[in-house]
Amino acid sequence: MIPLRDICEFLDTFAPLETAEDWDNVGLLVGDPDRMVARVMTCLTVTSDSVTEAVEDAVDLIVSHHPMPFHPLRRLTTEKTPSRLLLRLIRADVAVYSPHTAFDSAAHGINQQLADGLGLTNALPLVVQDPQRPEQGSGRYGLLQRPIKLADLAQELRRFLGIAGLHVVGDRNRDVRRIAVACGAAGQFLEPAGQVGCDVLVTGETTFHTCLEAEALGMGLLLPGHYASERFAVETLAERLADRFPKLVVWASRQEKDPLFWANEV
Ligand SMILES: [Zn+2]
Repeated sequence: MIPLRDICEFLDTFAPLETAEDWDNVGLLVGDPDRMVARVMTCLTVTSDSVTEAVEDAVDLIVSHHPMPFHPLRRLTTEKTPSRLLLRLIRADVAVYSPHTAFDSAAHGINQQLADGLGLTNALPLVVQDPQRPEQGSGRYGLLQRPIKLADLAQELRRFLGIAGLHVVGDRNRDVRRIAVACGAAGQFLEPAGQVGCDVLVTGETTFHTCLEAEALGMGLLLPGHYASERFAVETLAERLADRFPKLVVWASRQEKDPLFWANEV
């Protein structure tokens, strides 16, 4: 058994909470830091499926990328989804820790892993928070070893994420080399990506109008879906936790799934 406090400290070292965005809600969100933990489950999101798995498999701690709770709550009743899920977790004595945007931006966090997965060299933060620390910030951008066609980059991303397909905006035959990545829903990174000369922004999902704006700017967009752009990283996070705390039983949720699916997969 490991004190919850020690796991929180490790997570804060791996994905420093001070680097989370101001609007975010990160760290230990449910639970007693002095309790002892034996079983940990990572997941992308606290949902009915992941809560059921946690309760049935006697999890002590959920490390959920997306925060739960995220918005402030004025009552804990079963009438709304977040409070209903929180009540189930509290009754079963399951703690919740969320690294969210700290994990997006960490040195070995989601965006760096995406950059590595695409083979980007010398990846730098796309939006730097503190000019004194240019190595820290949101998103990443870097160079491919050599230019490739946008359609081929889409295939590379599809293979890396292990997904059936993805949305692409832009000229499929255009050679691209300078690539920006920003996991989740990060269409707002299109402009900064253009400002540093990127040919393409990879983000999980964005709006129709951001897709049109990318076309207008002559940039490509790769949109693998919010889930696919982040879920792989909760699997690597489970491995890191297991390496650091060999006495823990750690796994990435086996029940959570992308709520979106392709109709031809039915
Ligand atoms: Zn997300």
